[in-house]
Amino acid sequence: MEIEVLGTMRTCFPEKFGIPRQSGLAPLARGILRFGSLQPAAVWRDAMRGLEGFSHLWVTFLFHKAVHDGWKALVRPPRLGGVEKRGVWATRSPHRPNFLGQSLLEIASIDFDEPSILFRGVDLLDHTPVVDLRPFHPDHDLPQGLTRDGWISQTPTPSAKVQWLESVLGQNLSQFGLSPLGMPHYQPDELRALIESLLSLDPRPGHLRNTEKDWAMRLLGFDVKFRMDRNCATVLSIE
Ligand code: SAH
Repeated sequence: MEIEVLGTMRTCFPEKFGIPRQSGLAPLARGILRFGSLQPAAVWRDAMRGLEGFSHLWVTFLFHKAVHDGWKALVRPPRLGGVEKRGVWATRSPHRPNFLGQSLLEIASIDFDEPSILFRGVDLLDHTPVVDLRPFHPDHDLPQGLTRDGWISQTPTPSAKVQWLESVLGQNLSQFGLSPLGMPHYQPDELRALIESLLSLDPRPGHLRNTEKDWAMRLLGFDVKFRMDRNCATVLSIE
């Protein structure tokens, strides 16, 4: 059996560093799935019929940039400080057998002409190959009654306070909001809010959370430089 790629997702994340560790954590992180040439557009349009009534889709995709490094049965989740190990199936690590990812993404809009789907809250790298879509439904996807959340309940979600250098706050960001084709461009206030939400998730690798250090994250076509000191992020420049 071969898996067919439906299309690739263009997102605001050209590099892995800084991508939220789960979907939905940064609602301003947008992505657009444009269907490929594997099928005629009319077939994709048929496959999309009825989607407009749903708010969220399960998006199955390939962690294509994890394949090169292979997978291991034991991984070190960043949430556990990048030290302790857990079995890969007790984690959402990209380095897993078959490199299949699954994100619950909010539909922002659907374009049947293109055809394409715009999503909010993505945790996907730009150009990620998408292999399946299915609607989210709380009756089927949220278990009834008591649930347990394993090791995840043992550690708090990483978080950081975010502050901005005056010089960056005063900067004109209008030339930075350019998005991949088909995605709405970011207004300067949206860009600031996006950067703030990404830094507030503390993107550092778990084992480097105790050092003061400068970091750079690539977004759309620009770099955000920031300093992390304990749990405070300071935005130093946008270039
Ligand atoms: N919600 C998904 C993904 C969780 S892991 C799931 O549970 O399967 C999220 C991380 O995957 C991101 O922080 C990013 O670093 C990484 N990632 C996203 N897209 C990727 C890709 N195409 N290849 C490799 N890694 C990717």
